[in-house]
Amino acid sequence: MTTPVYENFINGHFLKNQTGDTFAVKNPATDEVIYHVEIADEFIQNAAIESAKQGFAAWSAMTPIERSRILLKAVAILRERNDELAKVEVLDTGKPWQEAECVDVETGADVIEYFAGLAPAQVGQQQMVGNDFYYTRKEPLGICAGIGAWNYPLQIACWKSGPALAAGNAVIFKPSEETPLGAIKLAEIFIEAGVPAGVFNVVQGAAEVGQWLTANPNIEKVSFTGEVGTGKKVMASAAGSLKDVTMELGGKSPLLVFDDADVSQAVSAAMIGNFYTQGEICTNCTRIYVHKNVYQQFIDELKTRTEQNIIAGDPMDPEVNLGALISKKHQELVLGYIDKGIQEGATLLTGGKALSPASAPNGYFVEPTVFVDCKDDMTIVKEEIFGPVMSVLVFDDEDDVIQRANDTHLGLAAGVFTKDIQRAHRVIHQLQAGICWINSYGNSPAEMPVGGYKQSGIGRENGIETLDHYTQTKSIYVGMSNIESPF
Ligand code: NDP
Repeated sequence: MTTPVYENFINGHFLKNQTGDTFAVKNPATDEVIYHVEIADEFIQNAAIESAKQGFAAWSAMTPIERSRILLKAVAILRERNDELAKVEVLDTGKPWQEAECVDVETGADVIEYFAGLAPAQVGQQQMVGNDFYYTRKEPLGICAGIGAWNYPLQIACWKSGPALAAGNAVIFKPSEETPLGAIKLAEIFIEAGVPAGVFNVVQGAAEVGQWLTANPNIEKVSFTGEVGTGKKVMASAAGSLKDVTMELGGKSPLLVFDDADVSQAVSAAMIGNFYTQGEICTNCTRIYVHKNVYQQFIDELKTRTEQNIIAGDPMDPEVNLGALISKKHQELVLGYIDKGIQEGATLLTGGKALSPASAPNGYFVEPTVFVDCKDDMTIVKEEIFGPVMSVLVFDDEDDVIQRANDTHLGLAAGVFTKDIQRAHRVIHQLQAGICWINSYGNSPAEMPVGGYKQSGIGRENGIETLDHYTQTKSIYVGMSNIESPF
């Protein structure tokens, strides 16, 4: 059976490359190639820049309310096609249908809708200065590049294009080589909704294509989602032409469970924050600090629920709630971390092995894994694993656990479970993280800014302030009287 070949999406249509080079995309749950994608060669790269220049000229000339109206049409189409798009995400990422069906498309559409609504409300300032005055305009940056990770491909494309397009920019987006189809579907939807050709382009390929984007002097901004190490390379390369950057990077986030917490609720948060999307979520609370008074109760319930309630298998089966990891290589990496945890003295409470479910025997599954007796200096406690691997640690002092939670170069997210309202806020204010939850974990509505402290990122996505990251302020001074010249 021949598989489809997708071309790059440039200037409103698919465009064939000249080299004929392609790469294959596999379904992580079956290990089968499902389609091929053409790599963006020099011809495509040049065409993408020309296309985005033209797209920017047309789009930035429209009024914000015209842009808003068109983007809202795209939102409606995204919602109408929810199931078709969710299926694309399941086949590309290996995540369960039961998640993609209600989260991936929905949360992407929400963000475009949010910024479409905000676009006409963005205003400049005006101030008198004596008899003269100045005013400011919020102008778009120009061509913005988006570079995405593979865990939420369509959602990431929406989160980057929503504010960029609402503010009047053109976008060249590069999805991860593992999951290239969602962004193409979004590009088609934008055209169908009436976004002019050239405003949203999709280039395909691996690191080299990303590097070209970050170095290209025609591009004014790069919004990147990926690993900390790649983020540093992207930022260094973007510095060559002083591009603005937004960096959404990795995390190793703590969840603190105090002894007055609702333990069942805290277990729910810990399981969602480690096993949702089979653990491939940047904000996951992979370090769970549990107060010694409730530690045994917490791990007993955690073990029971992990062993009884998790169903791995064909991700399209609506009963399945644990999907396959993105690739064989990533599965091996995660299993390598589990071995390291055992070698360094952590105790496996449950899980720890590769899985081969009957309905998806060739998929890259890993058992939901919980380590107890963890110490702060263990590799599994320090490094981002990006798989279904939770480390549980014990504490008995508030100040001490805050210091331990903050003892990392990462600072993406954090959570606290306690019924003491003063402690909840006191503790969360001291945690060095950009995205925090109290008696909750993982929700990320369009209205709420998200982004990391320390090496977890720069800038924010979502929330009102993000529009500022996609505009530049022009100040205009207006003289109302004759110039008094000393010359
Ligand atoms: P990577 O850093 O490996 O890749 C991210 C993107 O960058 C991919 O499109 C990749 O291309 C591309 N890329 C790779 N090298 C370069 C380069 N030198 N210059 C420009 N682009 C490059 O991350 P993953 O895709 O493995 O995603 C997992 C990581 O993403 C985790 O660390 C996770 O924490 C983080 N993440 C952060 C989020 C946040 O909001 N903070 C959200 C989701 C994930 P290709 O893959 O095709 O090689």
